[in-house]
Amino acid sequence: MKNIVFQRLRCPVCKKLFKPSNPVFLDEMNTVKHQSCYTLFSPFSVKDRGTYRYIIEKYDFFADHY
Ligand SMILES: [Zn+2]
Repeated sequence: MKNIVFQRLRCPVCKKLFKPSNPVFLDEMNTVKHQSCYTLFSPFSVKDRGTYRYIIEKYDFFADHY
């Protein structure tokens, strides 16, 4: 299940697929974005940060929603 998530999620800013080692932010809307993409496009506050793999494994709701 989680392997599918890893392959399918794209950054909504740059449209690139996330790689497990990418540094990302998770905002309060549970949207994942590259840390390098985040600044100008996000009115929401950051809830968590870490590598993409860290975020996906920490928050199980990703397995249900995608
Ligand atoms: Zn991006």
